[in-house]
This record gives sequence, structure tokens and C-alpha cells, in this order.
Amino acid sequence: MMNWNSYYTNGPNKKRRKAIPATCALHRGPIGFANLLVSIQDGSIVFDPHVTGACVMAIDKEGATTLRDILTEWLG
Ligand SMILES: [Zn+2]
Repeated sequence: MMNWNSYYTNGPNKKRRKAIPATCALHRGPIGFANLLVSIQDGSIVFDPHVTGACVMAIDKEGATTLRDILTEWLG
């Protein structure tokens, strides 16, 4: 179980994070302008769209494995 308090207080683990250019349909802006911050916290993969901490989602190892497999299938 990830420590949300630690995430909000200290931000994502600086060593294990990656900002991915993304497009946000809700907030508009140029294509690929938004940042989707992906990191790993306490074994969970965490998605922080806009890097604001406003709506942060985490998936556990099982969910992350499913995501990895489906992306591999789609992208080859
Ligand atoms: Zn947005």
C-alpha cells in the first residue's frame, strides 16, 4: 500500500519518475502539451496528470502488469 501522505508531502520519488508528453481533452491546450508524470511509489505505479497532485491514480503490481501486457500487445 503506498503512502499517500509521503507522496503529497515530498512529491514522487525523484529517482524513479518520468514525465510523458500528453494531451488533455478536458483542459485543452496544444497537443502533447500536458505532462503525465509516471512514477513508482512503494511498489505502486502512480499517474499524476498535470503534475499537480490534484487527481493522482495508483495501480498495484497486478494492474501495472496488465497495463504493460496490453501496451506490449498494442504497440508490439
Ligand atoms: Zn487536464
